[in-house]
Amino acid sequence: MEVRKYDIIIVGAGPAGTSTALSLIGAGLKVALLDKASFPRDKICGDFVAGKGIRAIREISPALYEKLVSFPEKAVNKSTRLYVGDHTPMQFEWVLTSYTMRREHFDNLLLEEVLEEGSTDFFGGDGVQEIHRTTSGFSLRTKSGAHFESTLIIGADGAHSVVAKNLAGYKVDREHYGGSVRAYFTGVENIEEAVNEVYIHKDVVPGYFWLFPVSPTSANVGLGMHSRYITRHKVDLKERFWQFVDASPVLQQKLGKAQLEGNLAGFGLPFFSKRFTISGDGYMLVGDAASLIDPSNGEGIMLGIISGQLAATTARSSFEKQDFSAEFLEAYTHEIHRKWWSEMRNKAWMVNTFADQYWLLDLAGGLGARSARLRRWLKKLM
Ligand SMILES: Cc1cc2nc3c(=O)[nH]c(=O)nc-3n(C[C@H](O)[C@H](O)[C@H](O)COP(=O)(O)OP(=O)(O)OC[C@H]3O[C@@H](n4cnc5c(N)ncnc54)[C@H](O)[C@@H]3O)c2cc1C
Repeated sequence: MEVRKYDIIIVGAGPAGTSTALSLIGAGLKVALLDKASFPRDKICGDFVAGKGIRAIREISPALYEKLVSFPEKAVNKSTRLYVGDHTPMQFEWVLTSYTMRREHFDNLLLEEVLEEGSTDFFGGDGVQEIHRTTSGFSLRTKSGAHFESTLIIGADGAHSVVAKNLAGYKVDREHYGGSVRAYFTGVENIEEAVNEVYIHKDVVPGYFWLFPVSPTSANVGLGMHSRYITRHKVDLKERFWQFVDASPVLQQKLGKAQLEGNLAGFGLPFFSKRFTISGDGYMLVGDAASLIDPSNGEGIMLGIISGQLAATTARSSFEKQDFSAEFLEAYTHEIHRKWWSEMRNKAWMVNTFADQYWLLDLAGGLGARSARLRRWLKKLM
């Protein structure tokens, strides 16, 4: 059987994997990008791409940035409206422009850019099943039996990462994990396309309910909660979602006459509230495979894009020095922790503090309209 040999194999072509591939263009390395899905494919998500993620894309590939800017099927976000309990909502304005865009479109645009650049070999529709170490790197086998070899592996295969399980010994830790469900609605009323809506309420904390417009009359609507709470209180997220919609007069005004498109579907969120192993001999993990999801707002796209950029930088110097050891690749882990660990640890602490003390959030929601300081603090949580 033919063995396809590469310098680097990136497993997973979501935002983390494609950003890694785009950041490796011009490095003179032989790179393959493997994904079990055929594209375009959907990914269960809130579809909100934070401004810092868009800015990183601009740095990685100005051409891709221009395509994103001119892509018509997206909402351009400048503000978030926060509803806390039954209090008057607060509105927060953001300096950077963010997009809400179906992942089917967003991820496909990123992949198309990789393919257009032409130096990365893409193999879609065939998942990696086995990874073994060899004397010079790794041997990978896919579901269809295809055989690959590489010196370096970058695991970008999401929350159920085969690379993280095989090489970093990753196991789901419910103390650092979230559950989430989302659905698309059409015919939504009383929404503003540029304003994302976040609902904090005793029935959804620790977590939140969201309504993110994707057009003037359609929205991505979802609910995410911390897994510890879901397990402890045996919460059925789908049931909780519908109960919350039914009981909220504000949501009834918006969704009362709307149509559900497809299903309410769920997926897991590995939180960056613990320092997991994200690099080792011959490998690095990026995005969800590295548990890089913000524990307070569930955002992982931006962290996925930037972690891909950082992993590519380390990979380039690792080939220059011909050093693929855990000690050398530790530079990547250090950079991720230097950049985000203190922020993520503080956010996780706040989430845990409010988990059993909703009254504090309710108080802040009530006083926030009158206190700029409190509003600034609430803004940091988002
Ligand atoms: C309900 C929900 C709402 C969310 N909302 C937001 C939001 O609004 N904004 C935000 O920033 N983040 C959000 N997130 C988090 C966000 O979806 C992830 O952080 C993001 O998708 C991470 O990107 P990634 O490239 O690391 O992984 P993914 O996007 O999951 O991509 C992984 C890729 O790897 C492929 N793959 C998996 N296994 C294999 C295998 N064995 N072999 C080959 N390929 C494989 C998959 O097919 C997939 O294409 C949400 C998550 C959930 C569950």
